[in-house]
Amino acid sequence: MKEQNEGDGTLDAAATVRWLTTAAGAVDREADRLTELDSAIGDADHGSNLRRGFQAVTAALEKDPPGTPGAALMLAGRQLVSTVGGASGPLYGTLLRRTGKALGDTEGAAVPEFASALRAGIDAVAQLGGAAPGDKTMLDALYPALEALEGGSGTQAYAAARTAADEGALATVPWRARKGRASYLGERSEGHQDPGATSSALLIGALAEVMSGE
Ligand code: ADP
Ligand code: MG
Repeated sequence: MKEQNEGDGTLDAAATVRWLTTAAGAVDREADRLTELDSAIGDADHGSNLRRGFQAVTAALEKDPPGTPGAALMLAGRQLVSTVGGASGPLYGTLLRRTGKALGDTEGAAVPEFASALRAGIDAVAQLGGAAPGDKTMLDALYPALEALEGGSGTQAYAAARTAADEGALATVPWRARKGRASYLGERSEGHQDPGATSSALLIGALAEVMSGE
């Protein structure tokens, strides 16, 4: 059954909680794959890192149900910062906290409002990690998704964002990593999909699942 907010692409508190718990489920299912990708060009902890973090997110949302999309994202971001080790914990924590902060007190964000908040979150990740598009990081899934969201409207915008994130993650395969642990490998990082871009595509996929009902 479709919820009301799934019709026009407005993200409210309930949809945000569903997004985050759907993401937790996807991370749990795909944890082995994420760790496998990280074993090729990193230290084989990305799946277990994120699984632990999103389990904490789910628990916190159940314990302390948030009243707005911004509060849900800030709570989730705090959990990720405190439970996920490695580079990705502070980066994902920043993504969710800054997106949530930018949403302010709004009870329902339409696509342009959400896209603008997400841009603040992604730009904060870029600033914190010093990475740019093309460096073979999570940004290579997040920025294409954001651009698709900014160029779309209604629930279709979310479906387009998912496609763009998946394509962005896949595009990292031939690239040489220029940031993070994978960059230590130099040309040996070529030929492998970036784990963080892959997990970012899972997050955007979960958002599309909730918002576009697909
Ligand atoms: P660690 O590399 O510390 O073991 P994880 O394995 O959890 O951390 O996460 C690795 C992912 O983090 C990479 O695949 C990449 O997408 C992302 N990442 C690493 N460094 C950066 C950075 N400076 N900016 C953006 N993303 C980064
Ligand atoms: Mg790692």
